[in-house]
Amino acid sequence: YFVSFEGGDGGGKTTQARLLGDWLGTLTGREVVVTREPGGTALGAELRQVILHGQDMDPRTEALLYAADRAHHVASLVRPALERGAVVVTDRYLDSSVAYQAGGRELGEAEVERLSLWAVQGLLPDLTILLDVDPATSAARMTGDPDRLERAGDDFHRRTREAYLSRAGTDPARWVVVDAAGTVDQVHAQVRAAVAPRLPQ
Ligand code: C5P
Ligand code: MG
Repeated sequence: YFVSFEGGDGGGKTTQARLLGDWLGTLTGREVVVTREPGGTALGAELRQVILHGQDMDPRTEALLYAADRAHHVASLVRPALERGAVVVTDRYLDSSVAYQAGGRELGEAEVERLSLWAVQGLLPDLTILLDVDPATSAARMTGDPDRLERAGDDFHRRTREAYLSRAGTDPARWVVVDAAGTVDQVHAQVRAAVAPRLPQ
């Protein structure tokens, strides 16, 4: 079973992925792998460094580096875990590219999606949880040194959020939208309520 968390910065994806992983481990008794993009593997960590803290780059270059990170993540970690029966929970997956590189950077949605699907040989999550975060909450929760992408303008983040919401609306069988404005416990309770009825028997 494969679950991805998506959404803007400050929505609590990392925390919620960990909490959901713990809960699913107890509930199912299965191995749980909690991972993230970009940077879920050793090669991915190097790519993450280049993407987020390296030089400015053309949007296509950025899209290809995310796709490279994702291809390696799926081939070396996600697919093998699913094949041995583990539950995989990832903090970001290919919908991040559609939201950020297509929506935010204004590359074409169909093209970015095609590139992403090619990179992962068509592997889609069983469930994608959008932690929808409004710009004010997102800004208030961002602490520390912003990376290259977090410094992108308000318009960029607005387009990204809209891209996520419109994508979630077109495929309700895969997506659940959760309001990320509550406390950690409140959001986790909403996540659990969304996941419970969708788990395979
Ligand atoms: O979620 P995380 O903090 O790891 O994401 C790192 C940064 O990369 C964030 O600023 C996020 O907005 C950006 N990002 C992006 N395109 C992606 C994935 C993440 O611009 N496909
Ligand atoms: Mg971040």
